[in-house]
Amino acid sequence: MRALHFDGTTASLIDAAEPQRADGDAVIDVTLAGVCNTDLELTKGYMGFTGILGHELVGVVADGPAEWRGRRVVAEINFACGGCEWCARGLGRHCPTRRVMGILRADGAFAEQVAVPVANLHAVPDGVADEAAVFVEPLAAAFEILEQVRVEPGQSCIVLGDGKLGLLAAQVLHAAGADVLAVGKHAGKLAHLARRGVRTVRLDEWVRERAALVVEATGSAAGFEMAVAATEPRGTLVLKSTVAHGAPLNLAPLVIDEITVVGSRCGPFAPALAALASGAVDVGALISARRRLRDGVAAVQQAAQPGVIKVLLEP
Ligand SMILES: [Zn+2]
Ligand SMILES: [Zn+2]
Repeated sequence: MRALHFDGTTASLIDAAEPQRADGDAVIDVTLAGVCNTDLELTKGYMGFTGILGHELVGVVADGPAEWRGRRVVAEINFACGGCEWCARGLGRHCPTRRVMGILRADGAFAEQVAVPVANLHAVPDGVADEAAVFVEPLAAAFEILEQVRVEPGQSCIVLGDGKLGLLAAQVLHAAGADVLAVGKHAGKLAHLARRGVRTVRLDEWVRERAALVVEATGSAAGFEMAVAATEPRGTLVLKSTVAHGAPLNLAPLVIDEITVVGSRCGPFAPALAALASGAVDVGALISARRRLRDGVAAVQQAAQPGVIKVLLEP
């Protein structure tokens, strides 16, 4: 089958063997896959990953238990062992021996087929189109903020970054009742949020007010310092960016302003699917391009261009 593979140096299209279905796995025919900032970081060396890229997908179960076969599904990306202390506590996303689809010791979804544990499958409600369902994984990452931080109605909140995750996090916090200000560099991207009733400002016009809750989703090491400065004393700073290259950080402002820093990664799929079904979050405007998997190398490069939001791949 056709697949977009990263060998540690370059991403290229290969003719890969079809995935082997281990016990407890299902094999999914991939309908659509999304290119994520993490994929771009992986191709710069993040996690030292080699294998088939891709962790955002919607597809149809081709092989697996009878009750799943033929169903339209999305799949959680952390493949937990199911038997350790962390898994027993319901924290399989932190299982120390987990594999992660397209990120850590597991092939991903930029392929005609991908194998995932049946435990990771979620059926897609009929009212949610493939073009929306493919956003479930990054949207779940935005919902993780609500799992970790208590958000009061009317609470001031600044979201830094108008990339995919910033645009989703701003919508999720807005839907949760927070008073959100989204700060970004691209007028076109911010316009999607303004249409949803979210206050937005371009970074170069921002007066640098502070908020009790700040979400850093710039995807850049420089964003951290700006996010610390935007967090009120005793406030909470949620970090969403994973960047391949570390930078020296001055942590003193965190101490001086007694800021709580919350690292935030993958989140729950159920509220994300519900938000797509109810229309509480809109992702349609975030699709910049839809490309064939055979053009996958160019598609990944396109996803890195300024102004581009989500690039979808179609096997
Ligand atoms: Zn991702
Ligand atoms: Zn485990």
